[in-house]
Amino acid sequence: MQVINPATEEISEIKETPLASIPKQLAQAEEAQRLWRALGAAERAAILLPLADSLTENKAVFARLIADDMGKPLASGMGEIRRTAGGIEYLCKMAPEWLAPEITDAGREAGYIEYAPLGVVGVIMPWNGPVWLSTVGLLSSLLSGNGVLYKPSENSLRTGIALAGEFQRLLGLPEGLLQLVVGGKSHGKAVVESDVAMVALVGSTAAGKDIMKACAAGLKRVSLELGGLDAAIVLKDVDVQSAAKKIVRINCTNSGQVCCSIKRVYVERQVYSEFLHEAVAEAQKIRVGNPLEDVDMGPLAGAFQLEKVEAAVADAVQKGARVLTGGGRLERKGFFYPPTIVTDVTNDMTLMHSEPFGPVLPVAPVDDWAEAVRLANSTRYGLTGSIWTKDMELARAIASQLDVGVVGFNDHGVPPLGAPWGGARESGIGRARYKGGLRDLCNVKFVRIPAI
Ligand code: NAD
Repeated sequence: MQVINPATEEISEIKETPLASIPKQLAQAEEAQRLWRALGAAERAAILLPLADSLTENKAVFARLIADDMGKPLASGMGEIRRTAGGIEYLCKMAPEWLAPEITDAGREAGYIEYAPLGVVGVIMPWNGPVWLSTVGLLSSLLSGNGVLYKPSENSLRTGIALAGEFQRLLGLPEGLLQLVVGGKSHGKAVVESDVAMVALVGSTAAGKDIMKACAAGLKRVSLELGGLDAAIVLKDVDVQSAAKKIVRINCTNSGQVCCSIKRVYVERQVYSEFLHEAVAEAQKIRVGNPLEDVDMGPLAGAFQLEKVEAAVADAVQKGARVLTGGGRLERKGFFYPPTIVTDVTNDMTLMHSEPFGPVLPVAPVDDWAEAVRLANSTRYGLTGSIWTKDMELARAIASQLDVGVVGFNDHGVPPLGAPWGGARESGIGRARYKGGLRDLCNVKFVRIPAI
């Protein structure tokens, strides 16, 4: 299949996995998993831990692969590898504790809970954090004693192939335990329809719905980490300049291609004009350009992304929105789109009900926080949200009314590993990256101990 460098539009060819070989790959992973499940979580963690060092040693190589695949600037790519190495160390340290059998007294009968592996998990991943997201997904399944069919995104294939190689070279990992499936959506579907025990998807809400439907027939378990249209609520007591700067920078991280980025802002009317002024000034400072150079933002990941963002902005303008800065692709080779601030938005605009996944920030005034909460909760998504204020008591009261998986105060996005990660409503099913997430990749078995 063809892959396109989003900064240069250079095309490369990558060999797909034949669809017909997926059942054989599954059988090999199942055989290797029988050896793997016999090890305890501590032994599995010891085998997987050296991955942190091998990724760190190859940091520059991976950062370049990520840049060529999906346009992330090199410095951000290096940051992604550092974060991933830290994540590997943390998960390998915690897994033995999280998955240890638990003695319990279930009323009249004692026993223990065992967190047993499920078998082979289909791990299907997106392109926007190709090392971080895939590593956390693969590692969670493997630490829980499962084998994996790993399907990296068709838009970050070179990175996915290299990452699979790092896992497969780990000393002590049974040969065949991690199987790489190279291809696009049809390959994802083939993984889902194979006899895997569970599917762990990080991707769009549309893919999540398809997968859940396909898994229903065999009652396969699913873990779905999906899209978001996250709102930030800005109250009138805030330091407007500092909040506007941070919100714009968060919106533009990874060229706006972050599941839990800020994608809508509701600002109390008293500080609305000031917020817009500061947001536009900050957006205009963001350096967009060649991801191999010192820039803040590279291109969007592909033509498919550029077209989606252009269509969402055009739809908003056609329905009466005003673009205060940005608003059109850059006239150069590659799929570049600048930071864009949009106002006079209404809920019927695509931007306000479907995830655009680009550096576009719609800003709307509200009369009070109650109106902001109502609007924040008005979409079918519910990934994360944030409240920007000095009043922490009020922030907590608002947090309890937001229908999302994670809330931030004067900050926005993912919590650290160890905290539950996932979305409400159509932003996902299940929680990952913490004790319960690893246990969700297991068969929770109660072993009864008879009284003597
Ligand atoms: P996508 O859903 O198009 O693709 C994700 C993966 O699923 C790819 O490997 C793709 O080949 C596969 N796939 C797509 N449709 C499928 C189907 N019907 N059956 C089986 N496999 C299928 O998403 P994307 O464009 O790669 O990633 C962007 C999306 O991912 C955004 O919506 C973003 O918000 C979301 N995302 C969510 C999180 C999270 O943690 N919640 C993290 C990163 C990205």
